[in-house]
Amino acid sequence: MCGFMPGAPLTTSDGFHIGSVCAIDSAARHFGPREKAILTELAHVAMNELELRRLAATDALTGVSSRRAFKDEAGKFVALARRHRSALSCITFDLDHFKSVNDTYGHAAGDQVLAAVSELVTGQLRRTDLFGRLGGEEFAVLLPHTDQHRAYEAAEKLRLAIRTLKIPGSHPPIAVSASLGVASLDPVGDDIDSLLQKADEALYAAKRAGRNRSAMWQPAGTAVQAERRRVLKAGRIVFMNRHAVTECTVRSLWENGAELALSSTLDIPDAFQLQIRSDGAEWACEVAGRTEQRLIVSFV
Ligand code: GH3
Ligand code: MG
Ligand code: MG
Repeated sequence: MCGFMPGAPLTTSDGFHIGSVCAIDSAARHFGPREKAILTELAHVAMNELELRRLAATDALTGVSSRRAFKDEAGKFVALARRHRSALSCITFDLDHFKSVNDTYGHAAGDQVLAAVSELVTGQLRRTDLFGRLGGEEFAVLLPHTDQHRAYEAAEKLRLAIRTLKIPGSHPPIAVSASLGVASLDPVGDDIDSLLQKADEALYAAKRAGRNRSAMWQPAGTAVQAERRRVLKAGRIVFMNRHAVTECTVRSLWENGAELALSSTLDIPDAFQLQIRSDGAEWACEVAGRTEQRLIVSFV
């Protein structure tokens, strides 16, 4: 039981009280102006330290995690995934030809693009995903409980969203693309550094293969685009117990998914059948990503 507990509030720079610094003793003591000043000073020191940590954890331009904060947090997720043998994947991405965005529109516009891309990607992720800026125009996403196929779909969804982003302020608006690398945790051999390294190897394979694409890490440094074939096939989206049909163009196909182009995705539900008549093929699909005229689907 304590008999003595004077305190000084911990107040953030924008005026929020988040706690207090207290001196505790079992015996009652004299607490005069000098002691009060010391306690208040201590509260300032503690608050400064807390705010500095928060600033260091957040990238000032984009508001997403800094490299250090991302790696610290991601390291904890990796340890958990290793212990529980649960799936965990990582996507790294880098904007394509970003130097020429700066050269054409200026560095301030380049900054605006980085902020807009960060905001867009944040909106596409789950609350449990981690997102950080590793440096320059390179970013990383950590996806807990996600295997490499789902992570590849997530990467394609991000790629498509970035590709269709238009940053206003110039004519025509600035458009960018990104190359993405996907890697999944080997629970025996990987730590956060080797996982990021694998995703980066895949990213550079995507760059080499022509940019604006996602690639999956493969053992022996042979990262390849996950057998994603560019095609141009007529498809049919069938839903409402087969009562509704919408024509589409199948733009790419991979082992368990496809990218579809159509005039409007507005009325298309999140689950439907996809038919490619020329191949006599039909799949049950779930929508993994959507923009006004594109769908990324996974076969279920
Ligand atoms: P690649 O497709 O191979 O990735 O080409 P790139 O031009 O994007 O690659 P490179 O790494 O050569 O250039 C990255 C550019 O990003 C150079 C640098 O000036 C710019 N950059 C890095 N950080 C920032 C930033 O904070 N703001 C702005 N505006 N530009 C930045
Ligand atoms: Mg780049
Ligand atoms: Mg770069």
